[in-house]
Amino acid sequence: MIIHTHGLKDSSKLSPHFKVKEFKVSSEYPNLIKEYKFNELQMYKLKTISNLILEPLREEMETPIHITSGFRTIELNKKIGGSTKSQHLLCEAVDFTLLDDNINYDEDGNSYHYTGLLWDAFEFITENLQNSYLKVILYKDINEMDEFVHISIPSLDVAHQKRTMIAWKKSNGKREFETYTS
Ligand SMILES: [Zn+2]
Repeated sequence: MIIHTHGLKDSSKLSPHFKVKEFKVSSEYPNLIKEYKFNELQMYKLKTISNLILEPLREEMETPIHITSGFRTIELNKKIGGSTKSQHLLCEAVDFTLLDDNINYDEDGNSYHYTGLLWDAFEFITENLQNSYLKVILYKDINEMDEFVHISIPSLDVAHQKRTMIAWKKSNGKREFETYTS
C-alpha cells in the first residue's frame, strides 16, 4: 500500500499554533515515535484536533498548550501501559498540560512552569467545545506535575462513547474516575 503524506514535514503547521512534530512525543521513549510518518487520514484527524479543540482553548487560556502525548504506535502504547483501545493509536486523542508564557527551565533544561489553570481549561472545554470532543478527562493530582487533560474527537469506532470525567489520583497512586456534570 502506498501512503501519501503530501510532503507534510514535522515542522509543518496543522493550525496556527500547532505543528506535526508536537504530536510525535514521548517523555520516556521519544525514539519510538519521532521518525513516524503520518498518512492522510491521520493528518486529517490531527488537523481536526488542532483546529477544533486546541486552537480555541489556546485562545481562551492565553497560554501555550504543551502536548505530553499525541499519536502512539502500538509499540509505544504498550511500553507506556496504554489501553489497547486507546484513541491515541488512531490519531484521535491528545494529552496536554498548560505552561506559563515565561517558561522556566530547571538545570536539566526540561522542567516547566505549570500555570495551575488546567481546571479552568477543563471547564472551558466542557462548556464550549462539547460538540467537538468525544471524551475529555481531567487527570487531577495534588502534585501539578502529574496533572493533565486527555481529550479525544469522535471516532468511527462505536466502542467509544461520549464521556466527561475527572480522574482523581488516590493516595495509593491509582486513579478513581468520576463522571463530571457542570
Ligand atoms: Zn490520553
